[in-house]
Amino acid sequence: YRTKRMQVAFRRLAETDTLTGISNRDHFTKNAEQALSEASRKSEQLGLIMFDLDNFKSINDRYGHSAGDWVLKRVTEVIKPICRKQDCIGRIGGEEFAILLRASDTESAAAMAERFRERIASISTAETGHDFKATASFGVTTTSNSGYVFDTLLSQSDQALYQSKREGRNRVSIFANAKTNAST
Ligand code: GH3
Ligand code: MG
Ligand code: MG
Repeated sequence: YRTKRMQVAFRRLAETDTLTGISNRDHFTKNAEQALSEASRKSEQLGLIMFDLDNFKSINDRYGHSAGDWVLKRVTEVIKPICRKQDCIGRIGGEEFAILLRASDTESAAAMAERFRERIASISTAETGHDFKATASFGVTTTSNSGYVFDTLLSQSDQALYQSKREGRNRVSIFANAKTNAST
């Protein structure tokens, strides 16, 4: 009985990012792949939001690594309550996050990303002893663009994210395949 409980505890530990308490990259990927195959069977659309904190290196440089850590935790706290129970959220890189949205079209995924963006931009950092802005750049895509392939889904939202970076950061971009969308 105790062994079983320990197995569960160890597994949870291995799946969790210690700083933020959300899924780490491996576990997020596993969940997302499972959700994709389920959605594919039901012909249901999924959305993926990716975001990366803006100029995070300079936050660390100016206010210290612990202020940077505080931001990562606070960001998780403000976006978690907006996610629905069935959505998966993961820390997929140092200051990079991803949220998989079940039964979501492009419009509602982008609206969700916009809510995340606003919440992050309005974080008050007074608790760190410094007053600064934390913002993030977002990329959004859905399975109607990518098909039910995780790597494609991730790569498309990453491309959209970099468009947000190029266009000035603190914004949401939707992946659009220039060729297929040329006529629309
Ligand atoms: P950009 O707007 O283009 O994303 O600029 P950036 O400075 O955020 O990008 P860059 O990739 O140069 O820097 C990311 C920084 O994130 C560098 C790294 O030290 C920091 N970082 C990654 N993981 C952690 C962490 O767990 N804690 C803290 N405090 N910093 C982290
Ligand atoms: Mg980054
Ligand atoms: Mg960054």
